[in-house]
Amino acid sequence: MKIGFIGLGNMGAPMAANLVAAGHRVTGYDTAAPAPEGVIPAASAAEAAKGAEVVITMLPNGAILKAVAAEIIPAMEQGAVLLDCSTVDVASAREVAALAAAAGLGALDAPVSGGVGGAAAGTLTFMVGGDAADFATARPLFDMMGQKAVHCGPSGNGQAAKICNNMILGVTMIATCEAFALADKLGLDRQAMFDVVSTSSGQSWSMNTYCPAPGIGPKSPADNEYKPGFAADLMLKDLRLSQEAAEGADADTPMGALAATLYARFVEDEDGRGRDFSAMLPRFEKRGRK
Ligand code: NAD
Repeated sequence: MKIGFIGLGNMGAPMAANLVAAGHRVTGYDTAAPAPEGVIPAASAAEAAKGAEVVITMLPNGAILKAVAAEIIPAMEQGAVLLDCSTVDVASAREVAALAAAAGLGALDAPVSGGVGGAAAGTLTFMVGGDAADFATARPLFDMMGQKAVHCGPSGNGQAAKICNNMILGVTMIATCEAFALADKLGLDRQAMFDVVSTSSGQSWSMNTYCPAPGIGPKSPADNEYKPGFAADLMLKDLRLSQEAAEGADADTPMGALAATLYARFVEDEDGRGRDFSAMLPRFEKRGRK
């Protein structure tokens, strides 16, 4: 397949590399990051999109996605599919899908879960919104870049699934970090804490797979001085998306709202910017009740 790939950052570069390894011809563009080995560099987003059967975008946010979409949609061939894997707001995803449809193109919103490790290993989960026919076109690519793709319904539903998932993730990471800090103060050994919780009813991905305590559990950013991984800034972005969505849909999400407040404080007023989102643990270690 001829594929255009726009946004070759922490996630996009290994995803594009996996498509090259599977034998696809991938032309890539990024305003800053270099093209990984085997990806043909393009001089612009439109050049990367020209002639491609599928154009994948992996960009930081909805505003950037909309700007890139406005540039590439006129350059894309009729019938080609615009496959956006970024995490963006539901409204932007639906806007881009409508623009693509008006130009005779397919469009899918297909944000991912699994982080940079999953992107490199080709084990991402894709949550996908859009038409079943476009989902079928993209299916072989999902199978190469990931281990699971769930068709969640019409355009925007992939992003809806993603922000609900990440709202749970933000809340469980905070709960796991504050529980470790409490355990420390109660004199409970961290390994014992992990051994109990990871096999008891307090378990979660945050504890079992991405343990925020260095030296405990599987290897995670905590073992690499909290270098991201998944940056606290991006978690804040996703929590804000969940709260905007909750506001628009009149949904009561008090835990999500509190997680957004704590990550905003961590990123904007404390030392969280540029650190992994699990660096909430050293934050709680330093704190008392007030
Ligand atoms: P990143 O910042 O490493 O990569 C984004 C890339 O987009 C950068 O290389 C940047 O130069 C490029 N870019 C920005 N504007 C551009 C433009 N106009 N044209 C072309 N390229 C442009 O971020 P990332 O970690 O790769 O995340 C990408 C998306 O995936 C985000 O929406 C994020 O929320 C989501 N995501 C990230 C993770 C993770 O663990 N990092 C996990 C799941 C989802």
